Amino acid sequence: MKAMKIVVCIKQVPDTSEVRIDPKTNRLMREGVPSIINPDDRSAIEVALRFKETTEAHVTALSMGPPQAEMALREALALGCDDAVLISGREFGGSDTYATASILAAAINKIGFDLVLAGRQAIDGDTAQVGPQVAEQLFIPQVTYAGDLQFSDDGLVVTRYLDAVEEIVKVKSPCLVTTLAEVAKPRYMTAQGIVDAFENDITLFEFEDLKDLLNPDWIGLKGSPTSVVKSFPKEAKGLGVKLSDLSTNEAVEVIIEKLSELGIV
Ligand code: FAD
Repeated sequence: MKAMKIVVCIKQVPDTSEVRIDPKTNRLMREGVPSIINPDDRSAIEVALRFKETTEAHVTALSMGPPQAEMALREALALGCDDAVLISGREFGGSDTYATASILAAAINKIGFDLVLAGRQAIDGDTAQVGPQVAEQLFIPQVTYAGDLQFSDDGLVVTRYLDAVEEIVKVKSPCLVTTLAEVAKPRYMTAQGIVDAFENDITLFEFEDLKDLLNPDWIGLKGSPTSVVKSFPKEAKGLGVKLSDLSTNEAVEVIIEKLSELGIV
């Protein structure tokens, strides 16, 4: 049986819930903020590695980003991925989700794949659009919100964790699955894994390597149909008032009084 080729898309994100945005450019300020592999993506790596342990699967970690994204890929190698590809170049900078997906899809086509795994959502950009858009660009079926994933003879059985229900979906490969962090608890790196990771080369895809697979008008800042116009932290809400000691009628009276003070009624 031919070894299954799994490509896992990983994004390096700032290790903070307080993402800082440059007020002039509306782009992320990465300076001085430690970076991590996006949590949903770490679980996607774990799914791929578990499959590799039981079959002949070959796992490639793929990331697009500035040169420092190499560290995220080295971590993926230390965890057990077979190889790693970094897409980097100034032509790709400022890409929105559509452009990002076009570039990732071109790289995935170049690498070759039976299964593409991506996280459901990145904790910085937060759009959850890239996985589905990559599947569209590759013309393959997609299953999103995977909370559990089992491999079957002709594809996968995926349990989707949705807000109110769970859904079990069968999908044939080649396909793309976006995973939730709950899909698998990530393992730790081993000391030997870390040593090996620094001895392995990371393949670099620059614009020249992908240009025949891409429409150059649809990449980077100028090829991005969306841009963030403004981004700002939400104002903290003031403390509310609880009227739990009052009867319903008394509470209604207090509320009406408050609303009339504010000129609302
Ligand atoms: P998501 O779609 O949330 O990521 C899902 C998964 O896709 C990830 O878990 C990972 O597996 C994979 N993935 C995503 N990016 C990469 C990568 N570079 N390399 C490898 N795998 C990857 N762009 C828009 O088009 N529309 C918007 O509304 C928008 N809003 C934004 C708001 C903010 C505050 C910021 C900072 C950026 C925004 N962007 C938006 C730009 C967007 O963040 C980037 O285009 C980014 O490349 C991908 O989007 P995401 O972070 O939302 O990823």
